Amino acid sequence: MSLHLEIASCIRAKSKFSNCTKCLDACPDSITLVDNLPSFANNTGVEAAACVGACPTEAFSLSDFSTTEFFFTFLDSKVRLISPKLNVPCLSVFSVEHLMALALSCDDEITLDISSYDEASILYEQIEARIEEANFVLSAFSVKRLVTNSDKEPLSKDEKKEEAEVTSRRSFLGNASLKGVIKHKMTFDEAVEADELKRFDLDRATIAKIRETNVPDKRKILFTILKQANVPNAFEILAEEDITFISQKFVDESCTNCQICYRICPTGALSSDTKFSIIHFDAMLCLKCRLCHDVCEPEAIHLQPGFEIKEFFEPTQRTLATFTIKRCNECGNNFTYTGGEQACPRCLEEEEEAMFLHENAKKMKALLESDKEDGNI
Ligand code: SF4
Ligand code: SF4
Ligand code: SF4
Repeated sequence: MSLHLEIASCIRAKSKFSNCTKCLDACPDSITLVDNLPSFANNTGVEAAACVGACPTEAFSLSDFSTTEFFFTFLDSKVRLISPKLNVPCLSVFSVEHLMALALSCDDEITLDISSYDEASILYEQIEARIEEANFVLSAFSVKRLVTNSDKEPLSKDEKKEEAEVTSRRSFLGNASLKGVIKHKMTFDEAVEADELKRFDLDRATIAKIRETNVPDKRKILFTILKQANVPNAFEILAEEDITFISQKFVDESCTNCQICYRICPTGALSSDTKFSIIHFDAMLCLKCRLCHDVCEPEAIHLQPGFEIKEFFEPTQRTLATFTIKRCNECGNNFTYTGGEQACPRCLEEEEEAMFLHENAKKMKALLESDKEDGNI
């Protein structure tokens, strides 16, 4: 099983200002940066699965295993145990969203087998943190939670029998799934090798893909499952720092409407109208990838301190900022009007420059004339 990266989905490919290090933090031994993009040795396999679950945009994947495919085959099966000994390459392939969606869509409790992980390892830490976060968010609106096998009594005789049968058949994944269910992802097998690390070239086709907005499958699945979930009687507000995969935002008055954040947002969570007179925000599309923050020069976009659980059940499009758009009297282009002369910043700048040159020319002329009068020239 080998690791793949669809570079067009990586937000570092969208902007050199992106500071995303989620995959590097998840797999520091396997992932590194080459030319500001994540890279890894060609033979990297399941040992880097934690980056698959960590990447907000699902840019990483494993050959021969698809988390999306797993989700549906798991629901179809009767087994409610997820284990590297049984049906997944590693528990770290799951993001918090996957774990929440799994818990919400099954009537029975799901057990995650963490018995084979070294408790002192980064991998274990990652898996534990994601399960904890999923259970924490679920606790705000659901009675269901995921359990780990250390939380659970040892398997009964019947359960052991069922587990053994499933292991031998691998029935719920099925042979077809194991052989080739991975989604159609762009592969970079012919990527140039450099120090054994993959190097990703941004060719024309990749650049076209970078410009597209895409909502990852894991978010689509969670969104769909939430539509069928029981709506809680009261909606809690969770602290922003306790939730890693989604956020709510506000924009302050230092925003210049430079348009970058809503043009670059990978999912379209930030958007505008045809005149660019507004900043809209859909929290349910936000991946908390922080790209909008990284590209905002005046640092005008901020995380809201609390995340409202209501957003999961009643998603809204909020207006973060509105602008007055006027036509420039000089060049005729539309611009964000903030008062004063009705001229766009570029024309104002050009006008300022022209004034400066004119003043200089006047001074030079005066100097020449005085030198002439003094008989110096
Ligand atoms: S976590 Fe995903 S988006 Fe972030 S740098 Fe890694 S591949 Fe790119
Ligand atoms: S929030 Fe920042 S990046 Fe977005 S339009 Fe305003 S200034 Fe530009
Ligand atoms: S709104 Fe910002 S943090 Fe959310 S997905 Fe878009 S760029 Fe990423």
